[in-house]
Amino acid sequence: MSPIAVALPSSGESLSRSDPAVSVVIPLYNEEESIPHLVEAVRAALDGIGRSYEVIVVDDGSRDRSFTLLQEVAAQDPRWVIVRLRRNFGQTAAFAAGFDHARGEVIVTMDADLQNDPKDIPLLLAKIDEGYDIVSGWRKNRQDRFWDRRLPSILANRLISNVTDVRLHDYGCSLKAYRRDVLRHVRLYGELHRFIPALASQVGGAVTEVPVNHHARQYGRSKYGIGRTVRVVLDLITVWFLGGYATRPIHVFGTLGLLSVAGGLAVGLYLTFLKLVLDQDIGGRPLLLLGVLLVMIGVQLITMGLLGEMIIRTYHESQDKPIYFIRTVVRHTPEPVADATADATARGLVPR
Ligand code: UDP
Ligand code: MG
Repeated sequence: MSPIAVALPSSGESLSRSDPAVSVVIPLYNEEESIPHLVEAVRAALDGIGRSYEVIVVDDGSRDRSFTLLQEVAAQDPRWVIVRLRRNFGQTAAFAAGFDHARGEVIVTMDADLQNDPKDIPLLLAKIDEGYDIVSGWRKNRQDRFWDRRLPSILANRLISNVTDVRLHDYGCSLKAYRRDVLRHVRLYGELHRFIPALASQVGGAVTEVPVNHHARQYGRSKYGIGRTVRVVLDLITVWFLGGYATRPIHVFGTLGLLSVAGGLAVGLYLTFLKLVLDQDIGGRPLLLLGVLLVMIGVQLITMGLLGEMIIRTYHESQDKPIYFIRTVVRHTPEPVADATADATARGLVPR
């Protein structure tokens, strides 16, 4: 558990000791105008689904009246839990804090600015019931500006889809549902929240998507600018590397390194041939520089791969982190074990 304060209304404790079926996690940063509408919309959507639920709003260090308003909501309805972060840690950290406090078997995430429609939540839950571990919303009719929003997003989605092999149309949509079991293995850093489906699929979760509604932002303003695109590309490199090569960094660095060394040696041999056989002057040739550079870079890459191999061992072994994730273990043991063996021995099935 993180040292973040949880403001659970005291009346809530006696109401229900059992965990709710669904936890809705909503990161929120300076959205005071949206809050009353958000509460109303979420209630209207969830009261009819026939499952117990809780809503965890993570106040990501808001500086407006958001927290005051949220406190009132929590005081009136114990199903609303407010987790207030000490400062603005960013949407990914807010999601992580929400996940840590969620008790539901299924966790649904959405934005606080009413761009997502809580009425779509039953669609996501239906897919979870079908057996998927992660259901991602797809803002098929996205209501954002084209040039600085939808276009970068289209390109990023294509790229992410190709690199991660998790085929979704819309990674950036916050409206998603997860089986909690899968999220347990996903560690979030930086701005990796949009890669949760990819990360969850790396630990073996089944991913699908459903088209969902999307509305233009009505109140407040977006917390992101175009600079996010660069960060998405950098995060993508991280996810790609961690997904395929986290337990074998030498395969990436070593391959590049060997190619580089081989190129450098080829250049060197060629220049040696020119010098020794054809007696040409090679001292001033840019090719010489390139050859030397390739060999040096290659050696460095291989060394980096070896360092990576050592680091990854420390990482896994110092924290007892497994390199695999188990879905279930099926073992039918005739009981008790000792007797069964004795029995088999007696019947001559096992050599004495
Ligand atoms: N948000 C947050 N912390 C931040 C930035 C954003 O909790 O540092 C919340 C924000 O209040 C909203 C959601 O994350 O509920 C998505 O943010 P925003 O609407 O600004 O992103 P956009 O829809 O423009 O991509
Ligand atoms: Mg928004």
